[in-house]
Amino acid sequence: MSAVLQVENLRKHFVTKKGFPRPKTVTVRAVEDVSFTIGEGEAFGLVGESGCGKSTVARALLRLIEPDAGRVLYRGEDFRAARGEALKSFRRRMQIVFQDPYSSLDPRQSIGSALVEPMRVHGIAEGAAARRRAAALLEEVGLPPAALDRFPHEFSGGQRQRIGIARALTVEPELIIADEPVSALDVSVQAQVLLLMKELRQRRGLAFLFVSHDLSVVRWFCDRVAVMYLGRIVEEGPAARVLAEPMHPYARILRDASPVPDPARRAALPRIMGEIPSAANPPPGCPFHPRCAQAMDVCSRTLPRWTPAPGEGQGGVACHLHG
Ligand code: SF4
Repeated sequence: MSAVLQVENLRKHFVTKKGFPRPKTVTVRAVEDVSFTIGEGEAFGLVGESGCGKSTVARALLRLIEPDAGRVLYRGEDFRAARGEALKSFRRRMQIVFQDPYSSLDPRQSIGSALVEPMRVHGIAEGAAARRRAAALLEEVGLPPAALDRFPHEFSGGQRQRIGIARALTVEPELIIADEPVSALDVSVQAQVLLLMKELRQRRGLAFLFVSHDLSVVRWFCDRVAVMYLGRIVEEGPAARVLAEPMHPYARILRDASPVPDPARRAALPRIMGEIPSAANPPPGCPFHPRCAQAMDVCSRTLPRWTPAPGEGQGGVACHLHG
């Protein structure tokens, strides 16, 4: 499987002021040294608690925020160096579906206009032809063509997310970056939208970067998964392996805390110690050591190096237990 997207050593820090009455400059280390590869048609999950940096990765990949360092290669070409037409072409091939479908649609713009505009901008279709394509896309995501003349407020959250997906498809992307695409939706609607994305993925051969805090969703949707903690990837590998036999203590806790239909197992869930530390002041050594029940002396001093998991293509882990 050839790589669609290669991310190498991506870094993004935010410098901000905090405190009163004398605010101090602090550096929030949102993303540190993140690397992964997504193959053609592959669904790659990025999971972790809120604030772990996964949505920052998604935005930095698309340069909605500029990364500070690292390489992003799209089919081997340097996306970070692209300007003008080259940047536009990359952006056509990588589209994003946001968490909140309402704020990502302009309330004053009809659905037809929202779908036709990207086709015009990217020179794919105009006028009646673009409108026909937009109607077909709405049908593909389960909405009637009559929706073209309506406005975002006339739709439910699930329908708006379908419109967001249709809009991403207008420019025929190869890769969809889905940033918590169902977490703002009612539970009853989540499954329908996930099913739609899975069908689209199979029908169109789309690759996905699927950002989520919900491991049960990632388990169902993704081929590979990376677990993020405090801006770093701590474990990566095939979803089947990582979720069945997580090597990193944090990945294991996330796995065990994800919703399961068995109430007996739910009652036995392990508790994660303490709060996630601030990315403005990450702990030395392994960033997980203040919360890790298996922490050793070395963990508070030395950042664990990346260690391959046993077996070909099984990913790896950053933990002194396996170094
Ligand atoms: Fe726990 Fe140490 Fe592994 Fe970090 S390196 S996860 S503190 S055992």
